Amino acid sequence: MTMTDARPKVGPGQLYVAGDWRPAGERMDVVDPATGDVVTTAAAATASDVDDAVAAARAAFPGWRDTPARERARVLRRVAALVMDRADEIAAVESLDVGKPITLCRNVDAPTAAETYEYYAALALTIEGAQRSVPFPAHAYTRREPLGVVAAITPFNFPLILSSTKLAPALAAGNTVVHKPADETPLSALLMADLLAEAGVPGGVVNVVTGTGPVAGEALLSHPGVDKIAFTGSTAVGRHAAAVAGEHLKPVTMELGGNAAHIVFEDADLAQAVDAVIKAFVFNTGQFCMGGPRLLVHRSRYQGILEILGQAVPGIPVGDPFDEATVIGPMAGARHLEKVEDYVRVARSEGGRVVTGGARVPGHGFFHQPTVIADLPADSRVVREEIFGPVLTVQPFDTEDEAVELANSTAYGLAAGLQTRDVARAHRVAARLDAGIVWVNDWAMLDPSMPFGGVKSSGFGRENGPEALHDYTRTKSVLISLEH
Ligand code: NAD
Repeated sequence: MTMTDARPKVGPGQLYVAGDWRPAGERMDVVDPATGDVVTTAAAATASDVDDAVAAARAAFPGWRDTPARERARVLRRVAALVMDRADEIAAVESLDVGKPITLCRNVDAPTAAETYEYYAALALTIEGAQRSVPFPAHAYTRREPLGVVAAITPFNFPLILSSTKLAPALAAGNTVVHKPADETPLSALLMADLLAEAGVPGGVVNVVTGTGPVAGEALLSHPGVDKIAFTGSTAVGRHAAAVAGEHLKPVTMELGGNAAHIVFEDADLAQAVDAVIKAFVFNTGQFCMGGPRLLVHRSRYQGILEILGQAVPGIPVGDPFDEATVIGPMAGARHLEKVEDYVRVARSEGGRVVTGGARVPGHGFFHQPTVIADLPADSRVVREEIFGPVLTVQPFDTEDEAVELANSTAYGLAAGLQTRDVARAHRVAARLDAGIVWVNDWAMLDPSMPFGGVKSSGFGRENGPEALHDYTRTKSVLISLEH
């Protein structure tokens, strides 16, 4: 596979603490997933670096909390404008770091980040309490107050968007932040640190500590100076993070793994359904917590859909993320590619029929063919667990009840979707699916105003919408006697 020379050059990363850049003793390699080459290094923060970042965030908190909401909103609007001004640069860095197609970074990641800052700039002006009527002479009211220092821990698959969905509401509400991006994908967080400063975010209000989970992440989880943990990542690490937070009685929001079912009913518009099915499992090279890797098809359409997928899927362009035509880039790292290969091996050993794909792409980089697997038993690990790659399993069903039961039969509950032309069925089934977000007749319709988040092992709490802002504030009641 030939690569374009459009890749940006990125210098070694440092830590961003109290408004200044500083080196860290330890370094981590940053690898271009399309070539497997080390393209730069980033700082690997120690526990002592995390201490400094939390101290900086604590020191900056009173000033930011007391900054009028209107001014905080102005700063967030400037962040949104700067993200769009520098969208090409941000998109290129994100594409290099994660291996996601440049068109996706330019058309989805950068604008979504900007829209998220813009949305919470508007919501900053809506934070308010209530006056209550009490049966004694007192003026009684509630205030919504920020929590203090937020530790934002983010995953590798949408570094820019998932830091924005935490930083924007946290800052809008008057909190300060220490952000730890994923070990593998630290670059856009470093770019954003500069951009936030340029927009007027005061030093110490946002600190970025790149580093590993076991060192920098762990230090943040148990740090006494952290008031809230906003975590997005795997269910296994999330379970641990929630336990540590519980030990320290810190509020947490947990955005964890997913394994969404996509149900195609017999009355679906077939062309529309197939487009949505493909989008749902190849979007972001299948490294999408809200992707749709489990296709459930009414038996009357099962063979037909398998045939269409068998013809259409091999034609999806897999290649250099910097090529404008690419739809599927590499997996973000060697470990992700190996995990996908393992699942395909298990699928074959459990009697799964590989309809198309089923192998890595030979050569450099971490590419895997888009893969469709039919005829697996419902209790197969490949169906039940989160694969997190461009792999679709397909199962037939006979009745609406059976479709819902199969859809709800995994431990996860982040997203779900269905294809039908029957409006009553759309509402009925949407209500019965275990998921924080349900799409009908399309996939991945997302907006900063629409919350997402998990049920069951997909976590708790919501990102986006007023719901997320609520999670970055707490209520205080004030009662003033009117008698003297
Ligand atoms: P991961 O759990 O390996 O890592 C997530 C973050 O946690 C990283 O920053 C990592 O460095 C950190 N971390 C790791 N060990 C830690 C520890 N001991 N203490 C503190 N922090 C630690 O997840 P990942 O592989 O980066 O991301 C993929 C996972 O994230 C998938 O399961 C995916 O479904 C999930 N995800 C969920 C959502 C959502 O909104 N629910 C969104 C995107 C991704």
